[in-house]
Amino acid sequence: MDLQPRAACPCGRTTAKGKAVAYTDCCGRFVEHFDTTPAPDAEHLMRSRYSAFVLENAAYLLATWHSSQRPAALDFEAGAKWLGLQVKDFKTTGASTAEVEFVARFRAAGRAVRLHERSRFVCEANRWFYVDGDQF
Ligand SMILES: [Zn+2]
Repeated sequence: MDLQPRAACPCGRTTAKGKAVAYTDCCGRFVEHFDTTPAPDAEHLMRSRYSAFVLENAAYLLATWHSSQRPAALDFEAGAKWLGLQVKDFKTTGASTAEVEFVARFRAAGRAVRLHERSRFVCEANRWFYVDGDQF
């Protein structure tokens, strides 16, 4: 999936005034510039990974997956339509660890899916990585 340059970010972030933030000003800063601009914290990484799922950017998803848990390859569910992301909680759990609780909704094969997960992240050499998560 390709976005128009100023399209609203798939992660749904809005300004304080409720205006949609453009992808290039939001998750695109990290997804499109992985080598030079790592996400500054676990919440930004989580949001950017959601946007990468929407955009089916497997390279970014694999690169931000901690090596201990990273799958060999990613399959995207054909025809999945992502409906939105809600970050419910973000907390630091240690010097280099954090957790983010979120709800992501999508529709696939005619059914609506609600993914509610508390994800664990770790920071190594100034880069945050997704480790794993518990689904509710
Ligand atoms: Zn975003």
